[in-house]
Amino acid sequence: MKILVLNCGSSSLKYQLIDMEKEDVVTKGTYERIGQDNSFVTIKQNGEKTRLEHPVANHDLALKFVMEELLTGEKYGVIQDLNEIDAVGHRLVHGGEKFSSSVLITDEVIEQIKECIPLAPLHNPACLLGIEACKKQMKDMPMVAVFDTAFHQTMPKENYIYPLPYEYYEKYKIRKYGFHGTSHKFVSKRVAEVMNQKIEDLKIVTCHLGQGASLCAVDGGKSVNTSMGLTPLGGIAMCARCGDMDPSIVGYLMDTLGKTKEEVNSILNKESGVLGISGISPDFRDVEAAKAEGNERAALAIDFYNHTVAEYIARYAVSMQGIDVIVFTAGIGENQINIRKGICEKLQFMGVEIDENINNCRGEEVEISTSNSKIKVYVIPTDEELMIARDTKEIVENR
Ligand code: AMP
Repeated sequence: MKILVLNCGSSSLKYQLIDMEKEDVVTKGTYERIGQDNSFVTIKQNGEKTRLEHPVANHDLALKFVMEELLTGEKYGVIQDLNEIDAVGHRLVHGGEKFSSSVLITDEVIEQIKECIPLAPLHNPACLLGIEACKKQMKDMPMVAVFDTAFHQTMPKENYIYPLPYEYYEKYKIRKYGFHGTSHKFVSKRVAEVMNQKIEDLKIVTCHLGQGASLCAVDGGKSVNTSMGLTPLGGIAMCARCGDMDPSIVGYLMDTLGKTKEEVNSILNKESGVLGISGISPDFRDVEAAKAEGNERAALAIDFYNHTVAEYIARYAVSMQGIDVIVFTAGIGENQINIRKGICEKLQFMGVEIDENINNCRGEEVEISTSNSKIKVYVIPTDEELMIARDTKEIVENR
């Protein structure tokens, strides 16, 4: 069975063709700057990376190019015919309270996804473009929607309600939803496999630390708490996003600096977090390099980040009444050795102890805690596309 996984952003389209027999990636690529006259696609297959300049006006044309040239074409094609694809899995950012698991896409589901647009005005319309483009190019192809929010629908109410007038939840669905669910689900399942234990018996804190970052308390395989909120701006401070802070700051910025709502939104999403404190870069590699050269704000930004992540981990000991294992994943979690070390050092009081030699690695699936550590610590590379493909396979086979 071959599954095509699509992940559409407002100007991008990522695709991956996965052969489910051995879960091999047959080919993958990313179309960028769709709608601009310098759009291009980068493809990766057989260990080689190729960049093709091919301007396209919209997602429809981008997908058409992917299908005609990159999947079935003479030069780059990997299959003879699109009929060799058995199903398409779409990544959807927001499923609101409507979707607590992945679903087969029907016209009714599309309408329900549209109803979630106010909750993700930038992301959901882009995902819908991908679904519509696919419907046009591959008629009658079974398609599955996999939501970033779905995994967190198991949270108990006290962990997702905001302390606002209750009617805002009832009428407008203002509550914590959480994101990165596909990644939290993937790494929590995987760590249980690696530990050779039943996930039902484990209390896991998964730390998805990338450009966007969130933590999740996974108790017995179910999300019971997570750091992101109504939108992916909440929770821990991120590379350039502020995360949680005193909500009065928004009004203060608007009143005292005369900023508009859009300007404040942009500051909180693009100029804050580690970039904001350090003033250097949203990329931890640059900030760590500056810290090594004695830059005090770089050191402050890193300390702040590590402290916040450690605090959230400790919070989740309350949510789950204990922690058995902490998992680091995504760009920073998998690759930033000093960040993992810095976070774990702040958790020594809970009995967390890591082996610095083993921790000295990037992108590997490995246990980094010592045998004395009271809480196990693992690095587990995430694979959201594979998780989407697995959900798609299961739903299509059981329909
Ligand atoms: P993500 O959004 O998961 O791609 O994560 C992006 C962040 O991960 C970047 O800002 C970097 O700080 C970090 N990162 C990604 N790759 C590496 C690497 N090879 N070495 C160190 N840090 C990395």
